[in-house]
Amino acid sequence: MPLGEGLKVRFWGVRGSISCSGAEYTRYGGNTSCLEVTAGGRRLIFDAGTGIRPLGLDLARQTPIDIDIYFTHTHLDHIYGLTFFAPLFGKGNAVRLWAGHLEPPYTLKNVVSNLMKAPLYPVSLEVFQARVEFKEFKSGQQLACGEIAMRTAPLNHPNGATGYRVEFGGKSICYITDTEHRGDGPDKTIVELCRGADVMIYDSSYTDDEYDRYRGWGHSTWQEGVRIANAADVGTLAIFHHDPSHDDAFMDGVAREAATARPGIAPNGLPRVIVAHEGLTISP
Ligand SMILES: [Zn+2]
Ligand SMILES: [Zn+2]
Repeated sequence: MPLGEGLKVRFWGVRGSISCSGAEYTRYGGNTSCLEVTAGGRRLIFDAGTGIRPLGLDLARQTPIDIDIYFTHTHLDHIYGLTFFAPLFGKGNAVRLWAGHLEPPYTLKNVVSNLMKAPLYPVSLEVFQARVEFKEFKSGQQLACGEIAMRTAPLNHPNGATGYRVEFGGKSICYITDTEHRGDGPDKTIVELCRGADVMIYDSSYTDDEYDRYRGWGHSTWQEGVRIANAADVGTLAIFHHDPSHDDAFMDGVAREAATARPGIAPNGLPRVIVAHEGLTISP
């Protein structure tokens, strides 16, 4: 997308856990987590699920590319698109990879290089032609990319995950996946991070009805998303990280129920709840 001035997010992958294809996924999409956030002439990528492959093809038409990719965490569905990100194969490109959830002995570099190791993968890190930098931080730290400010916070997920709040020009988008609610009221860390945000993109893998079967897997429900969005006075809740068992017809049902649970238009002009789909761009 052209680099406009205002804060904007485009969804290149909205699926959780594993990518899926088929006629029943055409409208919401089957690629796993990948967001493109643009503001003030900069572009940030969040997560490298399979959605990063088409994004990379889109970007590869321009050279040179200088870009930052921020990981929520390194579970496969958020990282296995990385090795198909075309700009990594372009000489003269610069790609910085950021993660805030890893504890020793893990580093982002050894996670990515293990992903590209025999017998899991045919070629190693050295295949990348771009200048690749691995950057570590600790969830909770503040970050900045040009004039874009970012706050981060740890999420409740096996092996850790980082939630992000991106701010530019008085607008804010929060990216909160993957995370599991604890059942003792809205997660205070998330409420604090997302307080008053224009948009909160939230791990809505399950419905409340399904959740009991998946305790401990590290995911949440769209209904919990509504409770947190209300507690944090968030403008728009974006339902995200759809379970692969939730096809288009199921997601239409979620959209209808969610619109009843959180009706109306937010001060940012967007509906108070939306269901993210591949290709959707929103600008609060
Ligand atoms: Zn995930
Ligand atoms: Zn995960």
